Amino acid sequence: MIEPFIAVADRQSLLADLQQFIQQHRNSGKRLALMLVKMHRFRRINMLFGYAGGDLVLEQFVGRLRSMCRTKDYIARTGSSEFMLVLPEIMNEGHAALAASKLLNILQEPFRVDDQPLKINASIGISLFPDHAQDVSSLIINTEIALVDARSNPRLFSIYSEQITSADVYSWDIETELDKAVDNDELSLYFQPQVNLQTGEIFGAEALIRWRHPEKGFIRPDIFIPAAEHSGQIYKLTWWTLNTALRLIREWPDNKKHLKVAINISASVLKDITFVESVKSALNLWNIPSTILTFEITESALMEDLSTSFTTLEALKSLGLAISIDDFGTGYSSMAYFKNIPATELKIDQSFVFYMLDNAMDKHIVTTIIELAHGFNLNVVAEGIETIETYNALKELGCDIAQGYYLAHAMPQHEFILWMNSYQSPQ
Ligand code: C2E
Ligand code: CA
Ligand code: CA
Repeated sequence: MIEPFIAVADRQSLLADLQQFIQQHRNSGKRLALMLVKMHRFRRINMLFGYAGGDLVLEQFVGRLRSMCRTKDYIARTGSSEFMLVLPEIMNEGHAALAASKLLNILQEPFRVDDQPLKINASIGISLFPDHAQDVSSLIINTEIALVDARSNPRLFSIYSEQITSADVYSWDIETELDKAVDNDELSLYFQPQVNLQTGEIFGAEALIRWRHPEKGFIRPDIFIPAAEHSGQIYKLTWWTLNTALRLIREWPDNKKHLKVAINISASVLKDITFVESVKSALNLWNIPSTILTFEITESALMEDLSTSFTTLEALKSLGLAISIDDFGTGYSSMAYFKNIPATELKIDQSFVFYMLDNAMDKHIVTTIIELAHGFNLNVVAEGIETIETYNALKELGCDIAQGYYLAHAMPQHEFILWMNSYQSPQ
């Protein structure tokens, strides 16, 4: 059998090794750090450069991991783009934080594939024995929780603490709480503006759900939406989002009521045969024309069940709604079905936009998506625009609509109305 390059560790022996580390530290009364390092965008590298290119990046990545490690540290590959490190005998949390910062620094230097520079980031989750957990299984769980948190942490690494909301989410009954959230008014809908890049005028907004739990604080949608999809509560939630959006639009100033509002729709909802009728009756109820609504559905969700989603999306499109393919570029679309896609808009995945000015490959992908969209008469939206430079570059490339922190974050209704009223075009 041909050994894959840098084989993924065998689970049993990994757990046995960890168990041994913990036992040694328990005996000596010393502290160790467990670290999970998740490389970003690895799937994309494989997609663009083939497995040989992917292996080359892995090799360089492991080299950098090793370069920051002491001889007694332990490294194992635990998934296609994930590594586990054990740092034995560390003094304190600060020591682990230092190792993480050092690693992130080392990763700043571009990688090279086919002589092209490639920037690769990583997220790092850390937890300590015995401070955060006393056995192997809890230590791994807490490190995983820290890793989830690291994704949204500006420092890109996170050390486990009981304050991490996502940690709470794993240990309480999110489904029961979510049911109550709708009834207890804990949810709210924020709006993040979208601007027409070519004219500079306001185009509309994406409606994004927010959940403020009375005790646990703010819970991120990318944690509770998957839970709601899993439990079936997503139907109730989508119904809430749709009706709330329509109710709020009615309160907008008259000269803003024509603006477009995009709502995220999970794939499972499209399988519900009553969905199209429900949308129709909600529009009637609030007396709002269908043409102001855009439904966003992710490319990967669409790929799960092409025929059902296509039928529902076709019906929604005939009602007059716009259909946007969200996170476009990450879902392996094939040209064969693309020409029949019932969409009016492509929304370029933010990860391409973030790095487009540093990374020729990402800029090339963005350019290609814009051309592809226009070739099929589709609008194209770029989200994740954080700087004026990216905004201008996208304008230059002919992209139609812009969304991102450079323009504004998502805001509650009253702030969004103030924003619309005082908006001045960046150009
Ligand atoms: P998404 O649909 O891809 O939404 C875009 C996310 O990127 C939002 O995060 C937004 O705040 C964030 N974002 C926008 N511009 C920038 C930027 O310039 N830089 C950075 N770093 N981030 C930016 P949010 O609101 O946390 O939503 C996360 C995800 O949760 C959404 O991803 C969407 O998949 C899901 N979601 C949110 N609201 C709903 C909803 O009402 N229904 C459903 N089904 N899903 C929702
Ligand atoms: Ca979206
Ligand atoms: Ca998106």
